[in-house]
Amino acid sequence: MASSKPQIQICEVGPRDGLQSEERIWSVDERVGLIDRLSATGVPRLEAVSFVNPKRVPQMADAEEVMAKIKRPAGVSFAGLALNVRGAERAIAAGVDEVRYVVVASETFNQRNQGASIAETLAGFAEISDKVSAAGLKLSATIGAAFGCPFEGKVAATKVANIAGQLAAGGCAEIGMADTIGAGVPTQVTEIYSLVHDAVGAEVGLGFHLHNTRNTGFANAAIAAGEGVLFLDSSVGGLGGCPFAPKATGNIATEDLAFMLRNMGIETGIDIDAYIDVAIWVEGFFDTPLPGQLMKAGLFPETASS
Ligand code: MG
Repeated sequence: MASSKPQIQICEVGPRDGLQSEERIWSVDERVGLIDRLSATGVPRLEAVSFVNPKRVPQMADAEEVMAKIKRPAGVSFAGLALNVRGAERAIAAGVDEVRYVVVASETFNQRNQGASIAETLAGFAEISDKVSAAGLKLSATIGAAFGCPFEGKVAATKVANIAGQLAAGGCAEIGMADTIGAGVPTQVTEIYSLVHDAVGAEVGLGFHLHNTRNTGFANAAIAAGEGVLFLDSSVGGLGGCPFAPKATGNIATEDLAFMLRNMGIETGIDIDAYIDVAIWVEGFFDTPLPGQLMKAGLFPETASS
């Protein structure tokens, strides 16, 4: 059922971005169980771990142990987040396939999130770029708050394109534009994609990390799919809330995205039934329902069987 080559690569970010936003701290074995369940569904990419300070992000402690314990099915790529040289060295030693870096498109947000200016964060990217490419791994970056910032308001697409151009010049293989606060609308997707594409050239793979905080996440994803993105980030069941609106939805749900794309004629390689099962399993760890819709509605009999 899974296709040989997905037309859009879904990157499952639940084990990293999802769990990091949740109060409950998952044990190493629970995280391994989650990743193994996900990697068996046909999803081609996972953001599995983060190599950051466990005092700052206790949810992501023991990334090395998680990486050592998970299954590594052929054809599935495992990414680890790294924000500095130390993190990149840990990621390389732990055996990830891809190192993901983050820079935020608004100066205030980047200062608060990374404790550095955008220029300093871009300089940090240059520091890890050689190390990661020398190790033969893929280096990618996420541009946070690419659609809007909780401190500065709407972010100009030209600003995002400028940062993307600098990342590409520094050896970034793929760039994802993140709607961190879920403020974006489809026309912004088109504008950002167009300007970033022009700034980085055809060799750099582009994608989006979309949130459904204001119910525009799937409209944005549909438009992004039409633009010809390489990848889209999403999380199982929509795991992971919005960091700036505690009661609100964050990540778009992977199985909902896979359903939409499949029925638009775009193959993702994902076994949607299996994904729903994982989403329901994940929901069992929480007191409140996950935001995913397909896990509640279910698939429908698309071929009449009477
Ligand atoms: Mg997210």
